[in-house]
Order: sequence, then C-alpha cells, then structure tokens
Amino acid sequence: MQVLPKEIWGEIGMAISFLGREICRPQPKCEECPINEVCNYYNTVFKKDPI
Ligand code: SF4
Repeated sequence: MQVLPKEIWGEIGMAISFLGREICRPQPKCEECPINEVCNYYNTVFKKDPI
C-alpha cells in the first residue's frame, strides 16, 4: 500500500492471489516466478537450498 498507487490496489490484489495459487502454492516454482527478485524466501532460503 505504501509503494503502489491506490488505483491498482484491486487489480494487484487479484494478481497476487493468482500468483499464490498458480506459482507459489502448493509447491513454489521459484525459478519461474515473476517476483523472485523481490521475494525474501527466494533470496534467503531457496537460494541456499533449492527445492
Ligand atoms: S519466489 Fe517467492 S513468491 Fe515466488 S514462488 Fe518462490 S516463494 Fe513464492
């Protein structure tokens, strides 16, 4: 909410929901995930011990 314009909050909420269902769960597909550069899990846990 601090970095994204209010006009896209509805769309970004849906986009994050779809990302969670299609890419992140149940088994994270981190290598193909479009937000892996900013994902804390990817940049800490996954890079040390890829699934
Ligand atoms: S990079 Fe992060 S958000 Fe993307 S699939 Fe992996 S854990 Fe999920």
